[in-house]
Amino acid sequence: MMRLPKFEYHVPREIAEAVKMIAGSGPEGQFVAGGTDLFPNMKRRQQTPRVVVSVMRVPELNLITGDEKSGVRIGASVTLTDICENPIINRDYPVVAYAARTISTPILRNMGTIGGNLLLDTRCNYYDQNYEWRKGINFCLKKDGDVCWVAPGSAKCWAVQSSDLVPVMVAIGAKFRLVSTIGDRMIDAAGFYNDDGIDYLKKRPDELLADIHLPPTNGWRASYQKLRRRGAFDFPVLGVAAYVHLDRAGAVDDAKIILGGIAPSPLEVKAAAAALIGQPLDNDHIQASAEAAYVKARPLDNTDFVMNWRKQMARQYTLRALRELATTP
Ligand SMILES: Cc1cc2nc3c(=O)[nH]c(=O)nc-3n(C[C@H](O)[C@H](O)[C@H](O)COP(=O)(O)OP(=O)(O)OC[C@H]3O[C@@H](n4cnc5c(N)ncnc54)[C@H](O)[C@@H]3O)c2cc1C
Ligand code: SF4
Repeated sequence: MMRLPKFEYHVPREIAEAVKMIAGSGPEGQFVAGGTDLFPNMKRRQQTPRVVVSVMRVPELNLITGDEKSGVRIGASVTLTDICENPIINRDYPVVAYAARTISTPILRNMGTIGGNLLLDTRCNYYDQNYEWRKGINFCLKKDGDVCWVAPGSAKCWAVQSSDLVPVMVAIGAKFRLVSTIGDRMIDAAGFYNDDGIDYLKKRPDELLADIHLPPTNGWRASYQKLRRRGAFDFPVLGVAAYVHLDRAGAVDDAKIILGGIAPSPLEVKAAAAALIGQPLDNDHIQASAEAAYVKARPLDNTDFVMNWRKQMARQYTLRALRELATTP
């Protein structure tokens, strides 16, 4: 049985108290929300904070406010189950509720939060193993070792961004509010993720993710398609988020295609959007967009399924996502 290492546990009731506690614990401290990612990582000794500060009992982090006209603010500690069941999110941002419903299992969604999901550690077959297994291969660059087993000549870690909500947040233009003892800042989801499996976030360890801001909908449509082996439980090994806005004449005047689950950060395929903009959302242009997504998708051999097949699935899943949008009223 894998056991947690010893650590101090704090449960602040206010944001100011939480960020002060983390600032006071320096590099030894880490926030935890539902713990469905952090605690297994601690058991595997991938992350070993001495001080753990829970963000679950801060009332401000547990609220959902607003609507499609003003935009919606979601506190980082709102559970995935609450996202799935919230009437405003289901009515105004169904793509967010849908992507949340594809995450893991009902029990994990009861514990797991939207904030923890957006900050999820990157994943790799050579890393998501227990300590003894990793020791057996002399570890790897991401933790305790000096070689990447996926790309042995590489100085970079290629562990994969594996959250279902990340590509959706990038596609719809969400923003995140980060708070520390120094102050607040807002950052676009699109600029928040680094293409590096170790340093994968543009967030300092002392910054708390306070809330997620969904923009007003203004008639845009968005869809998410997830590839995984089993219909539940499994992480995405490809996730396609598609976003379009149509003008009054029915032509696409804005579009984004974001691929998740294939690289350390979500991948925006600009050529796939360019194939749609100024055009009707018809079969020919959807095919052209899906082809562009296929060309840019370069999954690596560090998750489930053969990488060439996952690349081909980028075409199929982009087709599915855009066809769904073409038939949305
Ligand atoms: C078996 C299994 C299957 C899973 N399947 C999926 C899946 O299909 N799709 C998917 O996307 N995920 C999946 N997950 C991952 C995880 O359950 C979810 O991503 C969940 O939403 C993580 O949220 P959490 O609150 O438990 O995060 P935690 O484990 O509490 O935290 C995750 C990270 O975020 C940091 N953190 C959390 N909240 C804050 C905050 N407010 N400010 C600053 N830092 C913070 C923590 O320090 C940690 O680094 C799975 C996990 C398991 C164990
Ligand atoms: S991509 Fe390489 S360095 Fe990163 S976790 Fe996998 S094996 Fe380790």
